[in-house]
Amino acid sequence: MKISDILSTNKISISLEVFPPKKDSSYEVVETAVKEIAHLKPSFISCTYGAGGGTSSNTVKISKLIQDQGVTSMAHLTCVSSNTEEVKKQIKRIKEAGIENILALRGDIPKDYVEPTEPHFTHATELVKFIKQEYPEACIGGASYPEKHPEAASKDEDIRHIKEKVDAGCDFLTTQMFFDNSTFYNYLYRLREEGINVPVLAGIMPVTTKRQMERSIELSGCIIPPRFKALVDKFGDNPEAMKRAGIIYATDQIIDLIANGINHIHIYTMNKPDVSEGILNNLKGIV
Ligand code: FAD
Repeated sequence: MKISDILSTNKISISLEVFPPKKDSSYEVVETAVKEIAHLKPSFISCTYGAGGGTSSNTVKISKLIQDQGVTSMAHLTCVSSNTEEVKKQIKRIKEAGIENILALRGDIPKDYVEPTEPHFTHATELVKFIKQEYPEACIGGASYPEKHPEAASKDEDIRHIKEKVDAGCDFLTTQMFFDNSTFYNYLYRLREEGINVPVLAGIMPVTTKRQMERSIELSGCIIPPRFKALVDKFGDNPEAMKRAGIIYATDQIIDLIANGINHIHIYTMNKPDVSEGILNNLKGIV
């Protein structure tokens, strides 16, 4: 099923995200986690793609596994470290596996980045156009950043580029994580003012360990509100308490979003069936 069809019904959608096995982790462990997460029957599950190519071969495999469990899937695809031919091959694999949804991304620039000498894409907008050409029936999503992308000079400039990406053919946007909902409400208002009218999925990251919070800030540069920082300071050294607190904080954010008319939530569940289940159980009767 196309995600655009799921979003068009205006019913509340809760989607989850998994990642393929890293080089040093076993496929079977990830497979079991993905099956357990799919068993929770979210609106769809997306599977990330390793920008450097390290985990990319498993993205289609895991996305197919999700669909085999009766859940709609979306394969992420990055372009910064690949040439056009490699990207074309990956789109073909996605199409042949019967996956109808692609999240078109540039990917983070690796520290040791060597720009491919062959033809390649430099921004996600070019990738969106290419997917439209290679797989016109695909439903395409794009990434967006309520606190602006770290490389963008200003929020205005970043939103201008988001507009170009949507005009190129994105059917919806999924946001980077944020921990203060007012950031999202403000951002959504600015997107709408710029005439960006596609559905925007609010990205929620349940932070269940102290290390995860440190990594999240490092990767996304997002602001940690004092209310959330206090929680990590208090429970960060007690794994069980931190997990419960992280699940409750994420649930609280989601309930506030739904109460304010935001119908589409994407949860960065990170291959954790217990965290996914904890949040979905908390939402019973609401969703
Ligand atoms: P772009 O849309 O290309 O934007 C990148 C930067 O370039 C922005 O600052 C933008 O303002 C600027 N820009 C855009 N167009 C132009 C232009 N024409 N001229 C000048 N500047 C321009 N990474 C992975 O490696 N694998 C994943 O699976 C993955 N999944 C993600 C899922 C979500 C929902 C999100 C929010 C991020 C994900 N990422 C993933 C991280 C993402 O790859 C990085 O944030 C990356 O740095 C930017 O990707 P993008 O697609 O947003 O890039």
